[in-house]
Amino acid sequence: MIQLPKNFETYPEARKAGFLRMKELKDRGQRVVGMFCSFVPTELIYAADAIPIGLCAFTDEPIPAAEAHLPRNLCPLIKASYGFALTDTCPYFYFSDFIVGETTCDGKRKMFELLDEIKHTHVMQLPPSRTGALALESWKAEIIRFKEALEQFYQIEITDDKIREAIRRKNHERDVMLRFLELGKCKPAALSGYELGTRLDAAAFSFDLEARCAEVEARTAEILADWNANKKGTVSNRPRLLVTGCPNTGVRDKIIKAVEDMGADVVCFDACNGLRDKLRKVDENLPVMDALAQKYLDITCSVMSPNPQRLTDIGDMIDQYQADGVIEIILQACHTYNIESYEVKRYVTEQKGKAYLCIETDYSKADSGQIATRLGAFLEMLG
Ligand code: SF4
Ligand code: SF4
Repeated sequence: MIQLPKNFETYPEARKAGFLRMKELKDRGQRVVGMFCSFVPTELIYAADAIPIGLCAFTDEPIPAAEAHLPRNLCPLIKASYGFALTDTCPYFYFSDFIVGETTCDGKRKMFELLDEIKHTHVMQLPPSRTGALALESWKAEIIRFKEALEQFYQIEITDDKIREAIRRKNHERDVMLRFLELGKCKPAALSGYELGTRLDAAAFSFDLEARCAEVEARTAEILADWNANKKGTVSNRPRLLVTGCPNTGVRDKIIKAVEDMGADVVCFDACNGLRDKLRKVDENLPVMDALAQKYLDITCSVMSPNPQRLTDIGDMIDQYQADGVIEIILQACHTYNIESYEVKRYVTEQKGKAYLCIETDYSKADSGQIATRLGAFLEMLG
């Protein structure tokens, strides 16, 4: 079994612990903006003196209620997120004054129409490609429209100075989170992939950006000191894995924890709760709207077509983190990641010469046994 620190909080515990903190902040008049995706420029939310809170749901509890309105054959993340709103069982949705969605995939795009009937949802129109002369211009226009929607909703003015300050704070946070994720480069592994992913997800429920950074920095230093004192120079025969694909929080136990309990180390995440949005920062020298448009168009999510930078990033991660194999996680009915998995497999096996396993799943526990069997066979193949 993987070793976790004594005071370790699981994701559901951290999420629950944040409820009370959020209520206290709301009682003091704190503005809160709910969101669903890495494409949303959180700098504008901070510049509006609001707190951004992720509303993506990672449990199957609200899914049956959602299926009364949504098709069963839909991504569990979309169904669960809508189900929480529909049943009024997510305090973070309840506390959000303003919801921002985005036209990333078809499922979310159509779900937001229904969500808007529950609470006003501003939808950012994301271009389907980052290439072509109009992509950057149209995305910049959407970012300006989002800023204006926040200004109108809160009856405030969001100045360039406020945005510049928010860019600086968010870039610092990216640096801090990146340094934590880069602990995965240590060989042998300095900590479990389960902790790497959980701690970053949990950090989102620490609402003071600077305090959040301080907590993660302290844990990074602690792990590094322990690695230097006790592990550096030792040899491990545990295979090192890179995890890529859809958001993995809702399936962490049955895939990431399971494979680590079987004797592997997950050392790197090409995911929205991993390296994907932290590799490139917002350019602090550009005019603020140009800088935000550039940064947030460059996220290597499979909803972008074409998306060659994702393959290049995965290749760099395999090299830098010394990965022996790649596990791709596809949430059921996520067409863009599912189709792109063909290219990822070809790239990983043919260009990088590494083993590749693709797992398509949902939030239920029904396939845990079958997944464990496939993970076991994959590790055997890695030797
Ligand atoms: S995987 Fe893509 S659509 Fe999903 S949260 Fe990340 S950027 Fe957004
Ligand atoms: S995992 Fe895929 S289908 Fe689900 S919300 Fe993200 S992009 Fe859409």
